[in-house]
Amino acid sequence: MNRSLDHTTSLRIAIQKSGRLTDKTIDLLHGIGIEFDNYKRNLMVKTRNFDVELLLLRDDDIPEYVQDGICDLGFVGANEVYEKDSKVTVLRGLNYGNCRLAVASPNASGLETPEDFEGKRIATSYPFLTQKFFQDRGIQVSLVEISGAVEITPQLEVADAISDLVSTGGTLKANGLSERFTIIESETKLIQTEQPLSEGKQRLIEKFLQRIDGYRTAKESRYILMNAPKNSVEQIKELLPSMKSPTIMPLANEEMVAIHTVIPYNQFWDVMEQLQEAGASDIVMLPIESMIA
Ligand code: ATP
Ligand code: ZN
Repeated sequence: MNRSLDHTTSLRIAIQKSGRLTDKTIDLLHGIGIEFDNYKRNLMVKTRNFDVELLLLRDDDIPEYVQDGICDLGFVGANEVYEKDSKVTVLRGLNYGNCRLAVASPNASGLETPEDFEGKRIATSYPFLTQKFFQDRGIQVSLVEISGAVEITPQLEVADAISDLVSTGGTLKANGLSERFTIIESETKLIQTEQPLSEGKQRLIEKFLQRIDGYRTAKESRYILMNAPKNSVEQIKELLPSMKSPTIMPLANEEMVAIHTVIPYNQFWDVMEQLQEAGASDIVMLPIESMIA
């Protein structure tokens, strides 16, 4: 399966064909200016303006395709990367598809701490990580490997408890299960093959990463504009958690100036209230498409 030392420059990137990660991954690729269509009908999609082809796969298969160098990069949940114990390089954590692999048992079962599970049957689609968690603690469990609908196995008396992915916990609740403890936290990762890559491909990956970083910083930032009396500029500068030093421009009213800058979005509301107190007015916040440092 090796394509090592491949001298073609087209990057091959694996993404989930259809599932929870698909829309956000496609949005991210479009967001960094990569154009393609018809991805729903094809297994392989060529992009129009970047030297990239996309391979649309089941998420379970992505770590191995990347490990073997069939694909150079892949977007996949950490849960799959760690379950497959794949030898790949994690380039970025992307903060979507967040979930955790957790152990849950029927509400009144009394199975709560890891030790309570000694000798119990646990149904899971994640046998490697689940086994390892208990083994590391010297606890013997027997695993029932199931590929889907793991949450109904306790009701069917196929298992005493489950180890499954959880995000909100709604599915557990609906099935009379309580979450007890976490095995791993997960988010979508951008992974790279450890097979040797041509220089052309390495350069493309650097460019790809720069675009991703720019896009993500932009998503987390806002451009803000405000008017302020000249004599409060110093105080306002101190309040701004600027990513860059602010731009200050004269206004027709000579007592006033306009201040423009970029701030992290999560600080906007706190900062805005303080800016108002310092005399700023007409505060406007704008989204940013992309940002290259
Ligand atoms: P495929 O057909 O590609 O194998 P799947 O049914 O295995 O799809 P999805 O349910 O689409 O997979 O989940 C894909 C990924 O989304 C998971 O591997 C995980 O990283 C992430 N995820 C986030 N929240 C959850 C959740 N509550 N349950 C399952 N997966 C979640
Ligand atoms: Zn899957």
